[in-house]
Order: sequence, then structure tokens, then C-alpha cells
Amino acid sequence: MDKDEFFMQEALKEALKAFEADEVPVGAVLVYQNKIIARAHNQVESLQDATAHAEVLCLQAGAKLIGNWRLLETTLYCTLEPCSMCAGAMILSRVKRVVWGAPDIRQGASGSLFHVLNAPHPIHQIEVETNVLKEHSAALLKQFFGNKRVCKKILKTSLGSNETKSSPALKD
Ligand SMILES: [Zn+2]
Repeated sequence: MDKDEFFMQEALKEALKAFEADEVPVGAVLVYQNKIIARAHNQVESLQDATAHAEVLCLQAGAKLIGNWRLLETTLYCTLEPCSMCAGAMILSRVKRVVWGAPDIRQGASGSLFHVLNAPHPIHQIEVETNVLKEHSAALLKQFFGNKRVCKKILKTSLGSNETKSSPALKD
């Protein structure tokens, strides 16, 4: 399996946790040297905090673990195109690379609505990879928002068969 797809699956597991907690299903994992150092899911409802997006919670957890707000050489995987707040937080945190799943036409700041991640930045430019396992993320969101046509089989196939916690041998 592709490295980006592997870590996106882990982010999707976080999104499932949000789904099960009746939160908008968005998940994120932060990766440093091929290891997940933080994981989080959307908690806007449980924390009653509009800023408690998966990406921001993940950046906070990662910075706490490392003991440094500069998350240099990290990659943040998020199941949904980041909003402008999260995109800004990633730039401030000096995240090296962001990989996102489904586009968000209403909030996305990686080209869908705003161009926060794509615009030339004088201090820090983030590498961006888009649409990784986007069908899985989109299916979860559609299911959450009540679209009955969503095929649960897609989710079962992608997540149900990969319950082992061990990482495959990953290469840079
Ligand atoms: Zn956000």
C-alpha cells in the first residue's frame, strides 16, 4: 500500500470515531519520521468549541508531545480539505506537508473556496497532496449527513479489513 494511503486510513479511523460520537466525521493524524505522533478527530460538539477541528487538535497534541510548536518535517493527514483556520494553523506550525482526502466546497482553503495553502507564502510554504482516498472520506460524510445512497461496503472494505495496528514497512 502507498504510504499516503496507509496514513490516510489511520486518519479515516479517527473520522469514524467522530462519526460514532455524532460529530462531523473528520479525522487527522500527524506523522513524523514515518510514525504517527498524534491523532485526533473533530470535537466541536463535545467540547462546544468551533475551533476544535481534527487538524488543530492534532497539531496541539503533536506540539505537546515534541515539546515544540514548530512541527518541522511533519506531515499532517486529514480526511477533509482543511478550512482556512486549520490551513493557517498548519502554516504557523511549520508543517512540512499536508495530505487531505475529500474536497470541501463550502470551507476548503486548499483551492475549493480559499487558497490559503496554495498561495505563495513569505515564511513557510507547505507541500500539498490532495484527494487521497477521497471516496472513503466523502462516503463517511455523506452517510453522516443522511445520504442513504452511500455504500457502506466501501467503508467496510477500506477499514474493516485493516484492523491490525502494526505498520507495514514504509519507505520515504
Ligand atoms: Zn478546520
